Amino acid sequence: MANQTTIVVATNNLGKLKEFALLLPNFKMVSQSSLGITPEEELGKTFIENSLQKARVANKVSGMASLGDDSGLIVPALNNLPGLRSARYAHASATDEENRQHLKKELEKLELNQTKAYFVCVLALVQVAEDPFPLIATGLLEGSVTTTMQGTNGFGYDPMFYPKDSNLSLGEMDEDDKALMSHRGKAIQILKRKIENFVAE
Ligand code: IMP
Repeated sequence: MANQTTIVVATNNLGKLKEFALLLPNFKMVSQSSLGITPEEELGKTFIENSLQKARVANKVSGMASLGDDSGLIVPALNNLPGLRSARYAHASATDEENRQHLKKELEKLELNQTKAYFVCVLALVQVAEDPFPLIATGLLEGSVTTTMQGTNGFGYDPMFYPKDSNLSLGEMDEDDKALMSHRGKAIQILKRKIENFVAE
């Protein structure tokens, strides 16, 4: 893939688009919403299936290389929930605040103030129509979730999540610092290496 190739990012989240543009500067990133592409219902049972589905839909409509992203928070003490349901943990149209309060309630039911957790991000890059060899990259961020909320930066579960060895929650961290160490940041770095290796010339 040559420099300044356009990649359609299958997300409507401008924060994510910013992270992709920051960490993949050789590519021109455009959001699927700017091309009028609307997301489909997530039908997969895994983050991989969902990210690939998002990339395929964007590629089919745009005819351009497309990047799908699926992420979530995994709490082993809660049978790996919120997991795939992270965006809809409290209910189908939940806000971030409702999801955080739901997680707090579920932790309190188990009398846990703090427990291990990790964020997962899977990226899928579909380069051509019907691409039989999409590039897949997975990033993890280990840490813990707490029932107290700290900070107002970021989104989702950030104020409840402390990366391993950090005294600051993700909600208290600077956006650029988070982008470099986050599950999404790690997945992007891995994808970048895969793109470089894929293009031999
Ligand atoms: P999706 O990848 O857009 O489907 O997002 C899944 C959900 O996981 C989000 O709505 C958030 O609740 C949560 N999530 C994913 N990544 C992060 C993150 O970096 N910080 C906080 N919450 C996140």
